[in-house]
Amino acid sequence: MAEQAILTINAGSSSIKFSVYDAGTLTETVSGIVESLAPNRQTTLSIKRLDNGEKLSEAIDANDHAGAFVEILRHGAMLFAGRTVAGVGHRIVHGGIDYGGPAPLTEDSLRALAVLEPMAPLHQPHNLAAARAATKALPDAIQIGCFDTAFHRTHPWVNDTFALPRQWYDKGVRRYGFHGLSYEYISGTLQETEPALAAGRVIVCHLGNGASMCALKDGRSVGSTMGFSALDGLPMGTRCGQLDPGVLLYFMDQGMDARQIETLLYHESGLKGLSGISNDMRDLEASDESKAKQAIDYFVFRIRREIGGMAAVLGGLDGLVFCGGIGENSARVRREVCQDMDWLGIELDKVANADNQRQISTGRVRVMVIPTDEEVVIARAVKAAL
Ligand code: ADP
Repeated sequence: MAEQAILTINAGSSSIKFSVYDAGTLTETVSGIVESLAPNRQTTLSIKRLDNGEKLSEAIDANDHAGAFVEILRHGAMLFAGRTVAGVGHRIVHGGIDYGGPAPLTEDSLRALAVLEPMAPLHQPHNLAAARAATKALPDAIQIGCFDTAFHRTHPWVNDTFALPRQWYDKGVRRYGFHGLSYEYISGTLQETEPALAAGRVIVCHLGNGASMCALKDGRSVGSTMGFSALDGLPMGTRCGQLDPGVLLYFMDQGMDARQIETLLYHESGLKGLSGISNDMRDLEASDESKAKQAIDYFVFRIRREIGGMAAVLGGLDGLVFCGGIGENSARVRREVCQDMDWLGIELDKVANADNQRQISTGRVRVMVIPTDEEVVIARAVKAAL
């Protein structure tokens, strides 16, 4: 398989992140991104060869995913270095109740996945558009979908349901949980490097622009802070996190329609809404304003609450893992999350924490910083399918 390549695709509303892997060794050889993919905006394409450092950045003429694909593949020589693309792996946010693992994307499965679009309107249509574009552009490659919900299909029923009339559960109104590719990576890494810990009770905090937490028991997800949508649980860069549904009724009574509420909850809330300064944790940490501190305080408070709840669900705690841009880099957030948690067995090694080391605890509970890698999880799934 040495002369074959695997392409991974992570498509958002206005961006496509992609990586190329050697299919034999699963070495990442290229990473790239298409940005500002929208009508009337100047779209750019950036590609970086990781093996020889070659870089490219250019303005491209594309205003949808199909057009962007044509532009990406124009650089086939740089991307694939003479290898054929044997498989393409796609990050798909929603796999509903039927997809508990990676699956081939065919006309039938793409049609079934499109039915889930109303459940993830900001992600699913773009994920599927990219899959259709890749199928057209690379008809000889297998196309594999990797679902953010799949890792959480092991949740027990009490963690899967809302207390709504039964028919809604049957219609798919459930707590799905997301960020599953990241949790799968962390769980797999723990199994490889810390098998004793992986067999125990671990909470993983994926703290990036999107943020959620996952309770792992024996390597499997038994709970997540995200539920029906990627809005629930922790506050995020611009998303609100957990909200009393009564607030939504109040907004509607105030005359707001679904689209206005969607914009408020997805794009104007979270760290950005609370601080009025930025959605970026680095800006908030650098700011002297009290609102910036309050936004961080709320973020930390919600994580601490969830640690307590998840530890109760797990029946104790053996490990706490931080990942994502904030989890991997913000010593302050980790320090504040772990403060006064000795009752739970969490004691931070302040020096190791300040240094972003892998093991940052001295107490009974192992606290670790593990950089996540969702792309390689996708590449592994494609390799398995090949
Ligand atoms: P995404 O969810 O889009 O993949 P990332 O995982 O890249 O996002 O995380 C982005 C977040 O990580 C931003 O809030 C950014 O401020 C934060 N971050 C990155 N580096 C640091 C750092 N050194 N200190 C604090 N926060 C950081």
